[in-house]
Amino acid sequence: MPVSDRSSWTHTAGPAPQTPPLAGDAMADVVVIGGGFTGLTAAIRLAEAGADVAVLEAGDIAEGASGRNAGFLVPNLAKADPATLMENFDQQRGGQLAKSVAEAGDTIAEFSQRHDIECELKQSGWIQPVHAEVARDATYRRFEDYKAMGRPVAWLDAGAIKEATGCGHYVGGWIDRSGGTLHPVKFAYGLARAAQRLGAHIHSQTSATAIENDGSNWHVKTASGSLSTRQVLMCTNAMGGGLRADLTSSILPLTIHQLATEPLDAGMRSKLLADGQAMSDTANDLFTYRLDGEGRLITGGMAVWPFGDASGLGRRMIRRATKFLALDKTPRIETFWSGQAAVTTDFMPRLHRLADGLFAGFGCNARGIAMTHILAGALADLTAGRSEEQLPLPVTPVRPVPMAKLAGLAPHMWLAHGRLKDTFNRITAGSPANSRSNQTENHQGRKPC
Ligand SMILES: Cc1cc2nc3c(=O)[nH]c(=O)nc-3n(C[C@H](O)[C@H](O)[C@H](O)COP(=O)(O)OP(=O)(O)OC[C@H]3O[C@@H](n4cnc5c(N)ncnc54)[C@H](O)[C@@H]3O)c2cc1C
Repeated sequence: MPVSDRSSWTHTAGPAPQTPPLAGDAMADVVVIGGGFTGLTAAIRLAEAGADVAVLEAGDIAEGASGRNAGFLVPNLAKADPATLMENFDQQRGGQLAKSVAEAGDTIAEFSQRHDIECELKQSGWIQPVHAEVARDATYRRFEDYKAMGRPVAWLDAGAIKEATGCGHYVGGWIDRSGGTLHPVKFAYGLARAAQRLGAHIHSQTSATAIENDGSNWHVKTASGSLSTRQVLMCTNAMGGGLRADLTSSILPLTIHQLATEPLDAGMRSKLLADGQAMSDTANDLFTYRLDGEGRLITGGMAVWPFGDASGLGRRMIRRATKFLALDKTPRIETFWSGQAAVTTDFMPRLHRLADGLFAGFGCNARGIAMTHILAGALADLTAGRSEEQLPLPVTPVRPVPMAKLAGLAPHMWLAHGRLKDTFNRITAGSPANSRSNQTENHQGRKPC
């Protein structure tokens, strides 16, 4: 199975909005570089406030991570729980950020409705099953944090997790019912159309090649023209194609693979996240899955060795899904693709003022649907002159990761180590995945995984 240059989502999204390339020179109040969730949401926020906005996208709309992700609407950060946010930031900012993240599902649902964005958004729940006893306490504390915030969460025992996910090897878990799923490319197209309705000019197939300042204005150069402006937002997920090497070297670019199977038959579907939820477990070698609107199984994975042919990884991913979900037969893979997530060393998003009138926001650490919305709001607020103290994230200096190229291998080394740890935890804790007593038929007549 070769790696496709397009995600499954691009095949099911319907027609893209008309976004003609930039031709000639023009002016705008704000120029946004990057046509992903961050750039398009920022364009809406700016245009709503009355600004004349131009968006430049090097490829097609949602060419980057926004069109390649799994579409999980997750109302929390991967590694920073509310308590950690309070510790890392002052009480007020930590509290504000924790609240914004926890409410992101509701906020994005309301935003999509208000802007008439049809993207199959379902607040059907995001489930985090616990892979082994060793992870139970920390996950329970996490659940309690969100419960204390009044979020619609529930703790699920192993039976309830199995009932919901089809997986029998988890020891428990929790659900946040305000999370769920959406169709990421439809979401991006909807954002683009909403921005256009508000007057924004969006130019795809238009790469920003340079950003220059003449002392009073910024000039964003492209091969086919230029845009002059007072303010520029870099929403390139730190992968600016050489525009700002310092941003690129301040993150760890993490390649994540996803696959979509052929649509599963109705019998199989009814046993798998039948209410349209998404699930990501707590294992170091994370297992995630959901179904798309037509019943394709979407699951993700990462390679320990990130170079060369990835088809072995595709085979591993589908074998794992077949086993974990106790499927009767291995579904055929329809599309296998990859994308790059911007991971930061502390797993926190970044907001930068690179110069007067030049800002950047990125580093969503695979929580992009929630975090890009928050980042885009903060970027729009910065251009409007809002005080940095009032933003949910601090504006920090750019800090390149030491030996960035080599450091980029670190997540893959952690994965190798993590797989060993997962295996060790299962064996030593005797999790149900390995315990003899559990190797029986479950109530659905399938072997538990
Ligand atoms: C495989 C994968 C799965 C994921 N799954 C999830 C998930 O299920 N849920 C979730 O919440 N998050 C998920 N994420 C994270 C999420 O997709 C990202 O955080 C989010 O899409 C980032 O959006 P963005 O707009 O900042 O960046 P991008 O979507 O990457 O957009 C940046 C854009 O900038 C453009 N660009 C770059 N340089 C230039 C230039 N010089 N000129 C013009 N344009 C330029 C690029 O072409 C690109 O389109 C996942 C990420 C990956 C890779």
